[in-house]
Amino acid sequence: MKWNIGDIRVTKIQEVVFPKFSDVIPAATPEVVKQIKWLFPHFVSEDGHLSLSIHSLIVETPHDKLVVDTCIGNSRSREGFDGFHMLATNYMQDMLAEGYKPDDIDYVLCTHLHVDHVGWNTHLVDGNYIPTFPNASYLMGKQDLEFWGNIDEDTDIDFMKLQRTVFEECLKPILDAGLARPVEAPASVCDGVSLIPTPGHTPGHCSVLLESKGETGLITGDFIHHPIQFHDAALVSPFDVDNEQAIETRRKIFGKYADTPTLIIGTHFAGPTAGTLISENGTYRLQV
Ligand SMILES: [Zn+2]
Repeated sequence: MKWNIGDIRVTKIQEVVFPKFSDVIPAATPEVVKQIKWLFPHFVSEDGHLSLSIHSLIVETPHDKLVVDTCIGNSRSREGFDGFHMLATNYMQDMLAEGYKPDDIDYVLCTHLHVDHVGWNTHLVDGNYIPTFPNASYLMGKQDLEFWGNIDEDTDIDFMKLQRTVFEECLKPILDAGLARPVEAPASVCDGVSLIPTPGHTPGHCSVLLESKGETGLITGDFIHHPIQFHDAALVSPFDVDNEQAIETRRKIFGKYADTPTLIIGTHFAGPTAGTLISENGTYRLQV
């Protein structure tokens, strides 16, 4: 799946799709989902569960190649996290088939440092995790790096324990190789690509703004997990560090981009993944 924003081309590399992943927004029960007709058939299952996609977005400008978020990764022990454990997908073959070699990638953009966004940052070679994209600068929010790099050793929260492992496997080798570039959004990345602050899901969360020849695209990251949150920005995820700030970010971004030609490309949106935002009866919907 591909989109063009002026001279910028965006290609989706699918890792996995979860047709029913309602845990991401517990209040979005099938009863709630069934009231919102435009979510069918792309974004929810027939019986009203939220579908969730894990994919990377490759951004190619006339000068640079970037990978936005690197999914979960293969052969990662993620016990207790259904669907994430010991994956064996064709992610890398699919990237190569699209004509992108890891050595050619100039930038890896991590919208934030969760398990499903940094997996392919590294890969295992002879028992060591090494950078998958050895010639890239890896950009990530400075505040996220501080937050996720300093998780309490004695934490008894399963997700935080997991994130400690993720940091060791997927971030520390990048820092050790000198490839990490902590940034404070708003920040320019390269011609046509910049990071804007969208905090709440995580403290240093960024979204990616694409601008070329008068056209604009926005890669969301996880300030929004599912299109149902366009309908109701107050539907929150237990994976948000700060729910209230996440709601405020959604309202602000929706207000800014609704009823404009900006292509909104969702980091976890299933099916068509991208569309424009339309305001309607005091709420919003994604027009695909
Ligand atoms: Zn995510």
